[in-house]
Amino acid sequence: MSSWHRVDAVVVGAGFAGLYATHLLSAHGLSVQGVEAGQGVGGTWYWNRYPGARCDVESLDYSYSFDDELQQEWDWSERYAAQPEIERYLNHVADRFDLRRHYRFATRVVAARFDEDRSRWQVALDDGGEVQARFVVMATGALSEPKVPTIAGLDEFAGRVVHTARWPDDLEVRDRRVAVIGTGSTGIQLVPALAEVAAHLLVLQRDPNYTIPAGNRPLSPDEVADVKRRYPQLRAQARHAANGNMPLRSYGGRSIFDVSDEERERVWVAALQEGGAPAFTRSFDEVMVPGPGNDLATQRLLQLIDETVDDPAVADALKPRGYSFGCKRVCIDTGYHATFNRPNVTLVDLRATPIERFDATGVHVGGRHHELDVVALATGFDAMTGALGRIEVTGRDGLTLREALGDGLRGYLGLAIPGFPNLFTVTGPGSPSVLANVVTGIEQHVEWVAACIGHLDDHGWSTIEADPEAEAAWLDHVAHLAEGTVFTAPGCTSWYLGSNIAGKRRQFVAYVGGLGTYGDELQRRTEDGYRGFVLQ
Ligand code: FAD
Ligand code: NAP
Repeated sequence: MSSWHRVDAVVVGAGFAGLYATHLLSAHGLSVQGVEAGQGVGGTWYWNRYPGARCDVESLDYSYSFDDELQQEWDWSERYAAQPEIERYLNHVADRFDLRRHYRFATRVVAARFDEDRSRWQVALDDGGEVQARFVVMATGALSEPKVPTIAGLDEFAGRVVHTARWPDDLEVRDRRVAVIGTGSTGIQLVPALAEVAAHLLVLQRDPNYTIPAGNRPLSPDEVADVKRRYPQLRAQARHAANGNMPLRSYGGRSIFDVSDEERERVWVAALQEGGAPAFTRSFDEVMVPGPGNDLATQRLLQLIDETVDDPAVADALKPRGYSFGCKRVCIDTGYHATFNRPNVTLVDLRATPIERFDATGVHVGGRHHELDVVALATGFDAMTGALGRIEVTGRDGLTLREALGDGLRGYLGLAIPGFPNLFTVTGPGSPSVLANVVTGIEQHVEWVAACIGHLDDHGWSTIEADPEAEAAWLDHVAHLAEGTVFTAPGCTSWYLGSNIAGKRRQFVAYVGGLGTYGDELQRRTEDGYRGFVLQ
């Protein structure tokens, strides 16, 4: 590629979203320049190479549905595939649809400026290259910008410090003394995997999380064949489901208050044995609704910790306090709590004894010095806006995206931001995004973007842009839906609410009404002449 270059669309990112956008837009006859900071495809599944990384939506579901031959030819080995398998899958997709030729890898988009006279975006790359495009698709990921906390003395530590979302292939953890900071979904996957190989594992835990056994296992050829046979119908159902998942199993559908204590316990033992989040969250109607049903579910998961952890003091330290089940993103695990019965694992409850400081050889905490070789930061992400905010995006009238975002979230339907014509965000703020099977949400958005571009071309429009009033009304609606839910309950802090990033306004990131309902809203507004958008 020359340093200056003109295409119909720039797609930023080569994860599930970017790959599909590149495929679909080029299949519609557009010239596409893909740009990806990583050396290869995969996005989340390229970067998060930490031991234990795997999906928590079932593999047969957490995959593209747009091509039946693709879903028939690919065989998932486990109920929840591990990172290498998902990365292989996305490489297979890239090869199968010949997508790499569109991409510039190991390259970062640093700026994008809208040229109002020509209605074109000038996209600047960190290697000095520039691309002009009519459309920009920000497939930059909701969880792609790692959050590295400032911790006293950590920069003096002479061993290796790694963030889980930048886990290096050459990092040796076998027989090493390792500390993990962070016990969200990532830490909960990482801790059992590291404990198997490390000489000693120190888990530095601030807020513990509620977690449900994953029930991961190899997939049998029969169940794979069964799902493949029913794929067309199951995938269509996923598009209309609240959580964007295929109905692989049926759950609950009854009130927790209509059953006896014994029956509730029987259902929950079976759910925890089967594993996976939906078996528990959907066991009864009230599990994810603030109130007595959610309280009972919370108590059951606390009881599970007591049942699993040998030392009562350690069990107590592993128990969340001050917030109920469902507030933070539900975690699923493989042997997480049992890991704390191992002799080579030490838990430090940072709520009781915060980190004093790191030094060259380890960490001072709880009145002790722990010698360490590796510190693993499972400290999460600047979610939803982190990756977008790193790009200098300038729209109409010199408005920058950073100014537009301010301390909060912006976006109409999670797809477009007023003042930034022809720039689309995939699974952006205010769409179901991270609350549903993200791959289903990605397909829904990418297909909408491709159809929208087709509509503009068919009708001779040059730009589409979100209307500020429609955006404000949509964001109010999104906030209203989140009120009174487990996600915004008093005492709840989470990345869903932006609480993990200093200066972010407390605002729930996603549309709680369900992916299917959102899809209906999107369709109605589209059929209504792209209501809420301005076409010029
Ligand atoms: P990403 O996969 O994040 O890809 C975005 C890409 O954009 C990245 O590769 C990044 O390098 C690139 N990029 C960003 N900014 C720039 C720039 N300026 N220039 C160039 N390139 C840029 N979701 C589920 O539904 N189910 C799961 O089981 C699940 N498991 C997860 C496990 C982990 C460890 C994590 C972190 C997330 C998980 N998620 C899960 C959410 C997951 O992020 C989405 O499912 C999905 O992979 C997102 O795809 P994407 O293409 O939108 O974004
Ligand atoms: P996270 O949920 O934000 O968890 C970050 C953890 O780091 C929290 O325990 C947090 O504690 C802790 N932390 C942050 N800063 C700290 C500090 N300065 N000192 C001590 N502790 C600190 O991030 P994540 O675990 O990476 O997960 C992010 C999201 O990615 C998930 O919710 C999920 O959507 C996705 N994900 C999915 C899977 C999967 O199972 N498929 C796996 C990984 C990630 P506090 O809570 O006290 O702030």
